[in-house]
Amino acid sequence: MATDHYDVIIIGTGAGGGTLAYHLAPSGKRILLLERGGYLPREKDNWDSRAVFVDSKYRAKETWYDRDGKAFHPGIQYYVGGNTKVYGAALLRFRREDFGEVRHHGGISPAWPLRYEDFEPYYTKAEHLYHVHGQRGVDPTEGPASAPYLYPPVSHEPRIQKVFDDFRRLGHHPFPLPLGILLDEADGKPLHTSACVRCPAFDGFPCLVNGKADAQVICVDPALEHSNVELLTGAYVERLETNPSGSVVTKVIVTRKGIVEEYSADIVVVSCGAINSATLLLRSANQRHPRGLANSSDVVGRHYMRHNCSALMAISKDPNPTVFQKTLGLNDFYFRSEDWEYPLGEIQMLGKTDGEMLKGEAPGWAVWKPEFALDFMAEHSIDFWLQSEDLPDPNNRVTINPDGKIVLNIQETNLEGHKRLAAKLKAMLTEIGCHDQLMSRSLYLGKSIPIAGTAHQAGTVRFGRDPKTSVLDLNCKAHDLDNLYVVDASFFVSIAAVNPSLTIMANALRVGDHLLERLGSA
Ligand SMILES: Cc1cc2nc3c(=O)[nH]c(=O)nc-3n(C[C@H](O)[C@H](O)[C@H](O)COP(=O)(O)OP(=O)(O)OC[C@H]3O[C@@H](n4cnc5c(N)ncnc54)[C@H](O)[C@@H]3O)c2cc1C
Ligand code: SF4
Repeated sequence: MATDHYDVIIIGTGAGGGTLAYHLAPSGKRILLLERGGYLPREKDNWDSRAVFVDSKYRAKETWYDRDGKAFHPGIQYYVGGNTKVYGAALLRFRREDFGEVRHHGGISPAWPLRYEDFEPYYTKAEHLYHVHGQRGVDPTEGPASAPYLYPPVSHEPRIQKVFDDFRRLGHHPFPLPLGILLDEADGKPLHTSACVRCPAFDGFPCLVNGKADAQVICVDPALEHSNVELLTGAYVERLETNPSGSVVTKVIVTRKGIVEEYSADIVVVSCGAINSATLLLRSANQRHPRGLANSSDVVGRHYMRHNCSALMAISKDPNPTVFQKTLGLNDFYFRSEDWEYPLGEIQMLGKTDGEMLKGEAPGWAVWKPEFALDFMAEHSIDFWLQSEDLPDPNNRVTINPDGKIVLNIQETNLEGHKRLAAKLKAMLTEIGCHDQLMSRSLYLGKSIPIAGTAHQAGTVRFGRDPKTSVLDLNCKAHDLDNLYVVDASFFVSIAAVNPSLTIMANALRVGDHLLERLGSA
């Protein structure tokens, strides 16, 4: 059994862990990254819709269970870079109001213990780090920013520009979707210096040419250039052990290539994604922490959130030859609409649907839609992603069963606003004459919605001031332990209706500043 001691161990290399590693790397402290996955292979299948969406080639081969014991396969990826290897890189800030209490039709979205202003400097840093391309001042719901984006917005192709112009004509405020992408373009074409080539495989695919600003490319690879940073791949963290009083994590127990290894560090940071971080803490129960590590509050695993989402496809009379479609967002119904006093949510474009995706999506479709019709539909489709806030319910929770398998207990919350958002989009598309049919898509969400749709998991190890109602303090250190931190999306108190990753990245930079101070490296 190997043992080794570090200044910091970070478990998980996704949006949270990868960003933190990047921030701590120049300190010279000895840092060990433990990642259960390996590097995502670079191969032609990265851009193959069938391999990615139909055969789920890059998805973890894991079985989880719902509350009735029914098995399902979660939409989750285990690689260096975590789920950012396949994310759509829509990197938006929470709205300023999202940090306060928000009244929804389905209940209250609680206030965060920190304000937008506390996160703002870190949002700016995260946007710059992750090459966010965007434009301030177009989306009326956005909060104040201390600096402009470093990169211009990704240009719309003509069909999407027309949708943009048509929405504006109706009095709406579409905005260029802020995207983390390594794209240099002129006149809508990538320059010879650009890593990204503006291909159709942006959303949900890994990038074959490393043009996406994911946590591996942007953070883990540069962190590893520092000789004080080490990465072990295929290193599954089984559990964390503590000293007899339970106040300090003393051992990180890892299985790697079938062999059990032990590591230790002055500071241990968990960043396995909201579901796996909660289950790691629950698996690490001991005499001093009988309900799970850091779980005196009994909050670990509770308040699981994942957004209420829909993928919708408008079949337009005109063909849609767009290659890179994910360039438009609309927040006009974020807080309310003219006929509804509660929040509805956000509308954004999806990556472009192709015939292979439709053929793979629902075998039932092919019965009534011959294949050429599916290709026709894909050629004419304009694809939207709708996202609304679900609420933190203590009974929506992650647990482990006696065999150590993950169990997700979900009861949908706050659905009415989401239904109304879909109706708004439909009405807008009808007004601009852009669809004959609006169809729901399931491939992007996981094949059994909503439970397998784990892309936006959050909230299971929430932070707060009160150790009775939260697991982490404001620095994301466990209230119950002196050296345990959590920096993935599990610290969220609410999930808002924007994509989560920029907030995870910004928070990792914020916690990183605290850790540098604690380590005497600030
Ligand atoms: C198809 C798809 C599209 C998305 N699009 C967007 C988008 O456009 N915008 C956006 O903001 N977000 C998007 N997301 C969500 C985004 O990917 C996640 O919010 C983000 O990656 C979460 O970061 P994290 O650090 O919490 O966890 P992850 O990125 O999931 O990282 C967790 C890491 O921990 C590792 N790990 C887990 N358990 C263990 C263990 N026991 N031992 C060792 N390592 C472990 C995992 O392998 C993984 O690398 C998308 C996700 C998907 C799947
Ligand atoms: S659009 Fe750009 S970043 Fe996305 S997969 Fe294609 S080349 Fe990569």
